[in-house]
Amino acid sequence: MTKDNNMGWNFDNSYARLPSIFYSHQQLNPVQSPQLVVFNEAVANSLGLNSAALQRQEGVDMLGGNDIPSGALPLAQAYAGHQFGHFNMLGDGRALLLGEQITPSGRRYDIGLKGSGRTPFSRGGDGRAALGPMLREYIISEAMHALGIPTSRSLAVVTTGETIQRETELPGAILTRVASSHLRVGTFQFAAQWASKEELQILADYAIERHYPKIDMTQGNRYLQLLQAVLERQAKLIAKWQLVGFIHGVMNTDNMTISGETIDYGPCAFMDTYNPATVFSSIDRQGRYAYGNQPPIGGWNIARFAESLLPLIHDNEEEAVTLAQAVIEQYPRLYNANWLTGMRAKLGIFNEEQQDGKLIDELLTLMEQYEADYTNTFRAFTLNNCQGTPLFDSTAFKQWYEQWQARRQRQEESEAASQQLMHDNNPAIIPRNHRVEEALEAAVTQGDYQVMDKLLQALSQPYAYTAEQEEYTKLPAPTDCPYQTFCGT
Ligand code: AMP
Ligand code: MG
Repeated sequence: MTKDNNMGWNFDNSYARLPSIFYSHQQLNPVQSPQLVVFNEAVANSLGLNSAALQRQEGVDMLGGNDIPSGALPLAQAYAGHQFGHFNMLGDGRALLLGEQITPSGRRYDIGLKGSGRTPFSRGGDGRAALGPMLREYIISEAMHALGIPTSRSLAVVTTGETIQRETELPGAILTRVASSHLRVGTFQFAAQWASKEELQILADYAIERHYPKIDMTQGNRYLQLLQAVLERQAKLIAKWQLVGFIHGVMNTDNMTISGETIDYGPCAFMDTYNPATVFSSIDRQGRYAYGNQPPIGGWNIARFAESLLPLIHDNEEEAVTLAQAVIEQYPRLYNANWLTGMRAKLGIFNEEQQDGKLIDELLTLMEQYEADYTNTFRAFTLNNCQGTPLFDSTAFKQWYEQWQARRQRQEESEAASQQLMHDNNPAIIPRNHRVEEALEAAVTQGDYQVMDKLLQALSQPYAYTAEQEEYTKLPAPTDCPYQTFCGT
């Protein structure tokens, strides 16, 4: 019996059964003194893990990468990707996959450590992560989950007792990340570039079995169906991002999952003032991943996925391209349909009218013109309290408002039902940048995690509209320097 038999680990390692080109087995890179600073009981419970045992030193040693849980088989995944449009070989340079936890309800989740040390894919990097960015990923990913957006989750953050060198010396940390899988568009790009066709096919079949089990493996063109299914999930996901004003920041193909979950929280942030050109990431100088560009970039990434599948779609390349093209072409329409449905809900509209798109566009134009806060505008609609901002005071808005009310009358559902629909679709709060920074500052520089705990608590029910959440709806004080996020590498 191993000493962690009471932890609840129940690993399987299906990824490690793929051809060896897809990973590199790894030893652990122990750290000086792992200390637990954040732990997610809800996630631990849903995974069937023993929360109490995991929070004791034996458990913390595992979350810090100093000890291997029984049944785990640590490996670094190989992948490639287009980074800001340029193709590179990448791979887990600072992460390890411990294995897949099979939950009591039979679901399979990757358990990974981020910041766990060097691997063959580290290139020049140290394989480590700083505490601030790991806490940031914890906060934002948990907020996204609460908002109802598919995402990786965060089980724990452990400090390493070591410092790492960035622009300054920073405390090191390791995040335990939980995801449906870490299969990425970039995993397929890697396979298409460096693996055999047979290996590519094994990977694709694996992805189908793991994420799209409804696809029939025996008839039809299953790889075309895989492309279609991934496209649908990505179109849905990015529409959800847009609807809450989330900006991922690094939509490189290695950061786009096959499962349709959001992963790799780096320089991401939520938009305050509505402006499609909003970019927070310090490295995104061209605005490639600006808020307004996320939907077309999602399509671009899907096209890269399609390219990697071409050899499986048809033996004749021209034929394969024609078939794939017909699927990819659906992306803009599917994205728009998802977005429009979501926007209607944000405006309390149940039924569809031809002119809805125009009504929404007019609102967004006004919001941009009057520099309205994205979240708070829809929150005000939900609370039926449209006053006290330059937007709400404008004549143009008042005209729009009349049209909107007339539109809401043209549906069977009651006023109350319409209001409830808005309530369910317009978050009262989001992780506003100044509040996230405040929480990180307290945690990283003072070791005070109360600010973060309180923020996490508020963010755990974004549609609750409670009195305690009120303070988190306030905007940052005006500043001359735009908010900037950094990659945290
Ligand atoms: P990311 O920006 O986190 O998506 O990472 C892009 C690539 O850089 C991935 O291959 C990472 O594994 C790698 N990488 C990021 N940070 C580090 C680091 N500190 N050490 C080694 N590799 C890293
Ligand atoms: Mg990445």
